[in-house]
Amino acid sequence: MTVPFLDLRRRIASREEEHDLRIAEVIEAGVFVGGPWVERFEDGFASYCGAAGAVGVASGTDALTLALTAAGVGRGDEVITPGNTCVPTVAAVEATGATPVLVDPDRSTRTLTADSVASALGPATRAIVPVHLYGHCADMPGILALGREHELIVVEDAAQAHGATLGGLRAGGFGDAAAFSFYPTKNLGGLGDGGAVVSTRQDILEGVRLLRNYGERERYLSVVSGRNSRLDTIQAAILSLRLEKLDEDNNRRRAIASYYLEALDRWGLSDHGVSLPQPVTESACPVYHLFVVTTEARETVRESLKKDGIESLVHYPRAIHQHPAYARLGRQPLPVSESLAESVFSIPLYPELSDAEVEHVAEAVSSALASACR
Ligand SMILES: *Cc1c(COP(=O)(O)O)cnc(C)c1O
Repeated sequence: MTVPFLDLRRRIASREEEHDLRIAEVIEAGVFVGGPWVERFEDGFASYCGAAGAVGVASGTDALTLALTAAGVGRGDEVITPGNTCVPTVAAVEATGATPVLVDPDRSTRTLTADSVASALGPATRAIVPVHLYGHCADMPGILALGREHELIVVEDAAQAHGATLGGLRAGGFGDAAAFSFYPTKNLGGLGDGGAVVSTRQDILEGVRLLRNYGERERYLSVVSGRNSRLDTIQAAILSLRLEKLDEDNNRRRAIASYYLEALDRWGLSDHGVSLPQPVTESACPVYHLFVVTTEARETVRESLKKDGIESLVHYPRAIHQHPAYARLGRQPLPVSESLAESVFSIPLYPELSDAEVEHVAEAVSSALASACR
Protein backbone atom coordinates (compact mmCIF):
# COMPACT_ATOMS: atom_id res chain seq x y z
CA MET A 1 0.00 0.00 0.00
CA THR A 2 1.31 3.46 -0.83
CA VAL A 3 0.14 6.46 1.17
CA PRO A 4 0.74 9.89 -0.36
CA PHE A 5 1.68 12.65 2.06
CA LEU A 6 -1.38 14.62 0.92
CA ASP A 7 -3.87 14.11 -1.91
CA LEU A 8 -5.92 17.21 -2.62
CA ARG A 9 -7.85 15.50 -5.42
CA ARG A 10 -9.62 13.42 -2.80
CA ARG A 11 -10.81 16.57 -1.06
CA ILE A 12 -12.53 17.78 -4.22
CA ALA A 13 -13.72 14.34 -5.30
CA SER A 14 -15.74 13.91 -2.09
CA ARG A 15 -17.89 16.98 -2.97
CA GLU A 16 -17.27 17.49 -6.65
CA GLU A 17 -20.83 18.45 -7.62
CA GLU A 18 -21.12 21.08 -4.88
CA HIS A 19 -17.85 22.63 -6.03
CA ASP A 20 -19.06 22.74 -9.63
CA LEU A 21 -22.35 24.33 -8.59
CA ARG A 22 -20.64 27.04 -6.55
CA ILE A 23 -18.27 27.93 -9.36
CA ALA A 24 -21.17 28.01 -11.82
CA GLU A 25 -23.07 30.38 -9.49
CA VAL A 26 -20.13 32.79 -9.39
CA ILE A 27 -19.77 32.75 -13.15
CA GLU A 28 -23.52 33.29 -13.57
CA ALA A 29 -23.45 36.30 -11.20
CA GLY A 30 -20.56 37.82 -13.15
CA VAL A 31 -18.75 39.39 -10.17
CA PHE A 32 -15.24 38.03 -9.82
CA VAL A 33 -13.60 40.29 -7.23
CA GLY A 34 -15.48 41.27 -4.07
CA GLY A 35 -19.26 41.02 -3.95
CA PRO A 36 -21.66 39.16 -1.66
CA TRP A 37 -19.74 35.85 -1.61
CA VAL A 38 -16.71 37.58 -0.09
CA GLU A 39 -18.82 39.30 2.56
CA ARG A 40 -20.72 36.11 3.32
CA PHE A 41 -17.47 34.21 3.83
CA GLU A 42 -15.94 37.01 5.93
CA ASP A 43 -18.96 37.05 8.24
CA GLY A 44 -19.11 33.28 8.50
CA PHE A 45 -15.41 32.93 9.23
CA ALA A 46 -15.34 35.75 11.78
CA SER A 47 -18.17 34.22 13.76
CA TYR A 48 -16.55 30.78 13.48
CA CYS A 49 -13.40 32.23 15.09
CA GLY A 50 -15.33 34.14 17.72
CA ALA A 51 -14.05 37.50 16.42
CA ALA A 52 -15.86 40.73 15.56
CA GLY A 53 -14.93 40.65 11.90
CA ALA A 54 -12.79 39.22 9.14
CA VAL A 55 -11.28 40.81 6.05
CA GLY A 56 -10.41 38.53 3.12
CA VAL A 57 -7.03 39.16 1.51
CA ALA A 58 -4.85 37.52 -1.13
CA SER A 59 -2.74 35.23 1.10
CA GLY A 60 -1.77 34.36 4.65
CA THR A 61 1.47 36.28 4.22
CA ASP A 62 -0.43 39.42 3.23
CA ALA A 63 -2.87 38.88 6.11
CA LEU A 64 0.01 39.05 8.57
CA THR A 65 1.64 42.07 6.91
CA LEU A 66 -1.60 44.03 6.65
CA ALA A 67 -2.73 43.20 10.20
CA LEU A 68 0.59 44.41 11.62
CA THR A 69 0.56 47.52 9.43
CA ALA A 70 -3.02 48.35 10.41
CA ALA A 71 -2.01 47.96 14.06
CA GLY A 72 0.71 50.57 13.52
CA VAL A 73 3.76 48.29 13.33
CA GLY A 74 6.44 49.42 10.87
CA ARG A 75 9.96 50.73 10.36
CA GLY A 76 12.06 50.95 13.50
CA ASP A 77 9.92 48.40 15.36
CA GLU A 78 10.97 44.93 16.49
CA VAL A 79 8.60 41.98 16.26
CA ILE A 80 9.29 38.84 18.29
CA THR A 81 8.51 35.55 16.56
CA PRO A 82 9.75 31.93 16.82
CA GLY A 83 12.84 30.70 14.95
CA ASN A 84 11.17 27.40 13.98
CA THR A 85 8.35 28.85 11.88
CA CYS A 86 8.15 28.84 8.09
CA VAL A 87 9.59 31.67 6.02
CA PRO A 88 6.31 33.54 5.25
CA THR A 89 5.95 34.54 8.91
CA VAL A 90 9.20 36.49 8.82
CA ALA A 91 8.75 37.66 5.24
CA ALA A 92 5.42 39.17 6.30
CA VAL A 93 7.01 40.96 9.27
CA GLU A 94 9.78 42.39 7.09
CA ALA A 95 7.24 43.60 4.53
CA THR A 96 5.92 46.01 7.18
CA GLY A 97 9.39 47.55 7.50
CA ALA A 98 9.82 46.12 11.02
CA THR A 99 12.64 43.79 12.11
CA PRO A 100 11.86 40.22 13.15
CA VAL A 101 13.55 39.09 16.37
CA LEU A 102 13.79 35.31 16.52
CA VAL A 103 13.45 33.36 19.76
CA ASP A 104 13.35 29.65 20.56
CA PRO A 105 10.05 27.81 21.07
CA ASP A 106 9.39 25.34 23.87
CA ARG A 107 10.95 22.02 22.86
CA SER A 108 7.94 19.84 23.60
CA THR A 109 5.08 22.06 22.41
CA ARG A 110 7.23 23.55 19.60
CA THR A 111 5.43 26.86 20.09
CA LEU A 112 6.29 30.21 21.64
CA THR A 113 6.15 30.77 25.40
CA ALA A 114 6.00 33.97 27.43
CA ASP A 115 9.44 33.18 28.88
CA SER A 116 11.16 33.05 25.53
CA VAL A 117 9.43 36.27 24.46
CA ALA A 118 10.50 37.96 27.71
CA SER A 119 14.14 37.08 27.02
CA ALA A 120 14.09 39.15 23.81
CA LEU A 121 12.21 42.27 24.98
CA GLY A 122 13.95 45.56 24.30
CA PRO A 123 13.15 49.25 23.88
CA ALA A 124 12.18 48.76 20.20
CA THR A 125 9.91 45.76 20.79
CA ARG A 126 6.50 46.63 19.41
CA ALA A 127 4.73 43.35 18.67
CA ILE A 128 4.66 39.59 19.20
CA VAL A 129 3.71 37.13 16.47
CA PRO A 130 3.11 33.72 18.06
CA VAL A 131 2.69 30.90 15.53
CA HIS A 132 0.11 28.16 16.22
CA LEU A 133 2.47 25.70 14.60
CA TYR A 134 1.15 22.40 13.22
CA GLY A 135 -2.34 23.27 14.53
CA HIS A 136 -1.47 23.71 18.24
CA CYS A 137 -2.18 27.05 19.92
CA ALA A 138 0.84 28.75 21.44
CA ASP A 139 0.73 29.70 25.14
CA MET A 140 -1.69 32.58 24.54
CA PRO A 141 -2.62 33.39 28.17
CA GLY A 142 1.06 33.85 29.04
CA ILE A 143 1.90 35.76 25.86
CA LEU A 144 -1.14 38.05 26.14
CA ALA A 145 -0.35 38.86 29.77
CA LEU A 146 3.22 39.76 28.84
CA GLY A 147 1.96 41.75 25.87
CA ARG A 148 -0.41 43.75 28.08
CA GLU A 149 2.30 44.40 30.63
CA HIS A 150 4.62 45.86 27.97
CA GLU A 151 1.91 47.40 25.76
CA LEU A 152 2.73 45.22 22.79
CA ILE A 153 0.60 44.31 19.79
CA VAL A 154 -0.12 40.58 19.52
CA VAL A 155 -0.95 39.19 16.07
CA GLU A 156 -1.46 35.42 15.87
CA ASP A 157 -0.06 33.53 12.88
CA ALA A 158 -3.01 31.13 12.70
CA ALA A 159 -2.28 29.87 9.18
CA GLN A 160 -2.12 26.28 10.43
CA ALA A 161 -4.78 26.46 13.13
CA HIS A 162 -8.31 27.05 11.73
CA GLY A 163 -10.56 25.85 14.55
CA ALA A 164 -7.89 25.05 17.16
CA THR A 165 -8.92 25.98 20.69
CA LEU A 166 -7.21 26.77 23.97
CA GLY A 167 -9.17 27.32 27.17
CA GLY A 168 -12.39 27.39 25.15
CA LEU A 169 -11.24 30.18 22.81
CA ARG A 170 -10.58 29.60 19.13
CA ALA A 171 -7.37 30.53 17.32
CA GLY A 172 -7.94 33.99 15.91
CA GLY A 173 -9.86 35.16 18.97
CA PHE A 174 -6.92 35.82 21.29
CA GLY A 175 -4.73 38.65 20.09
CA ASP A 176 -5.26 42.13 18.63
CA ALA A 177 -5.65 40.33 15.32
CA ALA A 178 -4.88 37.02 13.64
CA ALA A 179 -3.72 36.03 10.18
CA PHE A 180 -5.13 32.98 8.40
CA SER A 181 -4.07 31.38 5.13
CA PHE A 182 -6.39 29.47 2.81
CA TYR A 183 -3.58 27.99 0.74
CA PRO A 184 -4.97 24.70 -0.64
CA THR A 185 -3.12 22.43 1.82
CA LYS A 186 -4.31 24.21 4.99
CA ASN A 187 -7.12 22.84 7.19
CA LEU A 188 -9.41 25.34 5.47
CA GLY A 189 -8.07 25.66 1.94
CA GLY A 190 -9.32 27.11 -1.34
CA LEU A 191 -8.63 26.26 -4.95
CA GLY A 192 -5.75 28.72 -5.02
CA ASP A 193 -4.27 31.39 -2.77
CA GLY A 194 -6.24 33.29 -0.16
CA GLY A 195 -6.07 34.64 3.37
CA ALA A 196 -7.92 36.64 6.00
CA VAL A 197 -7.30 38.95 8.91
CA VAL A 198 -9.59 38.24 11.85
CA SER A 199 -9.90 40.73 14.68
CA THR A 200 -12.02 42.03 17.51
CA ARG A 201 -10.69 45.55 16.91
CA GLN A 202 -12.73 47.62 14.46
CA ASP A 203 -9.79 49.97 13.81
CA ILE A 204 -7.63 47.07 12.61
CA LEU A 205 -10.42 45.61 10.47
CA GLU A 206 -11.08 49.01 8.90
CA GLY A 207 -7.34 49.56 8.35
CA VAL A 208 -6.94 46.23 6.56
CA ARG A 209 -10.02 46.93 4.42
CA LEU A 210 -8.33 50.13 3.21
CA LEU A 211 -4.88 48.61 2.78
CA ARG A 212 -6.10 45.66 0.68
CA ASN A 213 -7.73 47.95 -1.88
CA TYR A 214 -5.29 50.77 -2.80
CA GLY A 215 -6.10 52.61 0.42
CA GLU A 216 -9.49 53.59 -1.02
CA ARG A 217 -12.18 54.73 1.39
CA GLU A 218 -14.48 55.10 -1.55
CA ARG A 219 -13.88 54.53 -5.24
CA TYR A 220 -10.95 56.65 -6.50
CA LEU A 221 -10.37 58.27 -3.10
CA SER A 222 -7.23 56.85 -1.45
CA VAL A 223 -6.74 57.95 2.15
CA VAL A 224 -3.73 55.77 2.98
CA SER A 225 -1.08 54.22 0.79
CA GLY A 226 -2.34 50.70 0.20
CA ARG A 227 -2.04 47.96 -2.38
CA ASN A 228 -4.02 45.23 -4.08
CA SER A 229 -4.51 42.22 -1.82
CA ARG A 230 -8.08 41.03 -2.28
CA LEU A 231 -9.73 37.64 -1.87
CA ASP A 232 -11.17 36.40 -5.18
CA THR A 233 -14.93 35.78 -5.31
CA ILE A 234 -14.47 32.22 -6.53
CA GLN A 235 -12.20 31.43 -3.56
CA ALA A 236 -14.66 33.00 -1.12
CA ALA A 237 -17.52 30.95 -2.59
CA ILE A 238 -15.53 27.72 -2.32
CA LEU A 239 -14.26 28.61 1.19
CA SER A 240 -17.85 29.18 2.38
CA LEU A 241 -18.62 25.66 1.21
CA ARG A 242 -15.55 24.20 2.90
CA LEU A 243 -16.18 26.11 6.13
CA GLU A 244 -19.40 24.12 6.61
CA LYS A 245 -17.29 20.97 6.87
CA LEU A 246 -14.31 22.33 8.79
CA ASP A 247 -15.36 20.94 12.19
CA GLU A 248 -16.05 17.52 10.72
CA ASP A 249 -12.66 17.55 8.97
CA ASN A 250 -10.87 18.67 12.13
CA ASN A 251 -12.61 15.93 14.14
CA ARG A 252 -11.39 13.35 11.66
CA ARG A 253 -7.87 14.79 11.97
CA ARG A 254 -8.08 14.47 15.76
CA ALA A 255 -9.32 10.88 15.52
CA ILE A 256 -6.37 9.96 13.28
CA ALA A 257 -3.92 11.81 15.56
CA SER A 258 -5.23 10.01 18.61
CA TYR A 259 -4.91 6.66 16.80
CA TYR A 260 -1.29 7.49 15.89
CA LEU A 261 -0.51 8.67 19.42
CA GLU A 262 -1.92 5.51 20.96
CA ALA A 263 -0.08 3.26 18.52
CA LEU A 264 3.23 5.06 19.09
CA ASP A 265 2.82 5.31 22.87
CA ARG A 266 2.51 1.55 23.09
CA TRP A 267 6.19 1.26 22.17
CA GLY A 268 7.35 3.53 24.99
CA LEU A 269 9.29 5.59 22.49
CA SER A 270 9.39 8.73 24.59
CA ASP A 271 12.07 7.05 26.70
CA HIS A 272 14.16 6.79 23.55
CA GLY A 273 14.31 10.44 22.57
CA VAL A 274 11.21 10.42 20.38
CA SER A 275 8.82 13.30 20.86
CA LEU A 276 5.23 13.31 19.61
CA PRO A 277 2.56 15.99 19.14
CA GLN A 278 0.57 17.05 22.21
CA PRO A 279 -2.70 15.13 22.69
CA VAL A 280 -6.12 16.72 23.03
CA THR A 281 -6.61 17.80 26.64
CA GLU A 282 -9.43 19.42 28.58
CA SER A 283 -8.05 22.88 27.84
CA ALA A 284 -6.30 22.42 24.47
CA CYS A 285 -7.93 21.08 21.35
CA PRO A 286 -5.41 21.14 18.49
CA VAL A 287 -6.40 20.63 14.83
CA TYR A 288 -3.35 18.61 13.71
CA HIS A 289 -2.55 20.49 10.54
CA LEU A 290 0.54 18.27 10.57
CA PHE A 291 1.55 15.28 12.69
CA VAL A 292 5.17 15.96 13.51
CA VAL A 293 7.48 13.46 15.21
CA THR A 294 11.05 14.18 16.30
CA THR A 295 13.89 11.70 16.46
CA GLU A 296 17.62 11.90 15.97
CA ALA A 297 17.27 8.87 13.69
CA ARG A 298 15.08 10.83 11.28
CA GLU A 299 16.84 9.84 8.08
CA THR A 300 16.83 6.12 8.91
CA VAL A 301 13.16 6.24 9.87
CA ARG A 302 12.12 8.16 6.75
CA GLU A 303 14.07 5.72 4.57
CA SER A 304 12.25 2.81 6.15
CA LEU A 305 8.86 4.52 5.69
CA LYS A 306 9.67 5.08 2.04
CA LYS A 307 10.24 1.33 1.64
CA ASP A 308 6.78 0.81 3.14
CA GLY A 309 5.26 3.18 0.58
CA ILE A 310 4.69 6.02 3.04
CA GLU A 311 5.58 9.53 2.01
CA SER A 312 6.92 11.77 4.78
CA LEU A 313 8.09 15.39 4.70
CA VAL A 314 10.11 17.73 6.90
CA HIS A 315 8.49 20.87 8.35
CA TYR A 316 10.94 22.56 8.36
CA PRO A 317 14.46 21.48 7.44
CA ARG A 318 15.98 24.87 8.40
CA ALA A 319 15.37 27.29 11.22
CA ILE A 320 14.73 30.78 9.84
CA HIS A 321 18.25 32.09 10.45
CA GLN A 322 19.67 29.03 8.65
CA HIS A 323 18.30 30.31 5.33
CA PRO A 324 20.82 32.39 3.38
CA ALA A 325 18.24 35.17 3.11
CA TYR A 326 17.78 35.40 6.88
CA ALA A 327 21.23 34.56 8.27
CA ARG A 328 21.39 38.21 9.35
CA LEU A 329 18.54 37.51 11.84
CA GLY A 330 20.60 34.95 13.77
CA ARG A 331 21.70 37.41 16.41
CA GLN A 332 21.28 35.11 19.39
CA PRO A 333 21.75 31.35 19.60
CA LEU A 334 18.61 29.31 18.83
CA PRO A 335 19.55 25.78 19.89
CA VAL A 336 15.97 24.48 20.13
CA SER A 337 14.99 25.75 16.67
CA GLU A 338 18.15 24.25 15.20
CA SER A 339 17.71 20.90 16.89
CA LEU A 340 14.06 20.72 15.76
CA ALA A 341 15.15 21.40 12.18
CA GLU A 342 17.46 18.39 12.41
CA SER A 343 14.97 15.99 13.96
CA VAL A 344 11.37 16.76 12.85
CA PHE A 345 9.46 14.79 10.24
CA SER A 346 5.77 14.73 9.32
CA ILE A 347 3.67 11.69 8.45
CA PRO A 348 0.46 11.67 6.38
CA LEU A 349 -2.53 13.07 8.28
CA TYR A 350 -5.56 14.42 6.43
CA PRO A 351 -9.30 13.83 6.75
CA GLU A 352 -9.54 11.83 3.52
CA LEU A 353 -7.17 9.05 4.66
CA SER A 354 -8.95 5.69 4.85
CA ASP A 355 -8.91 3.65 8.06
CA ALA A 356 -6.73 1.07 6.33
CA GLU A 357 -4.21 3.74 5.39
CA VAL A 358 -4.19 5.13 8.92
CA GLU A 359 -3.52 1.66 10.33
CA HIS A 360 -0.76 1.04 7.80
CA VAL A 361 0.93 4.35 8.62
CA ALA A 362 0.66 3.80 12.38
CA GLU A 363 2.15 0.34 12.13
CA ALA A 364 4.96 1.30 9.79
CA VAL A 365 5.93 4.40 11.79
CA SER A 366 5.89 2.51 15.10
CA SER A 367 8.09 -0.28 13.88
CA ALA A 368 10.46 2.05 12.00
CA LEU A 369 10.90 4.18 15.12
CA ALA A 370 11.19 1.18 17.40
CA SER A 371 13.97 -0.43 15.37
CA ALA A 372 15.84 2.82 14.77
CA CYS A 373 15.61 4.21 18.31
CA ARG A 374 15.87 1.31 20.73
C1 LIG B 1 1.03 28.84 5.09
C2 LIG B 1 1.61 29.66 6.15
C3 LIG B 1 1.82 31.04 6.00
C4 LIG B 1 1.65 31.76 4.70
O1 LIG B 1 0.44 31.64 4.08
P1 LIG B 1 0.33 31.91 2.50
O2 LIG B 1 -1.14 31.89 2.26
O3 LIG B 1 1.06 30.79 1.83
O4 LIG B 1 0.94 33.22 2.22
C5 LIG B 1 2.28 31.76 7.09
N1 LIG B 1 2.54 31.17 8.26
C6 LIG B 1 2.37 29.85 8.44
C7 LIG B 1 2.66 29.26 9.79
C8 LIG B 1 1.91 29.04 7.39
O5 LIG B 1 1.77 27.73 7.58
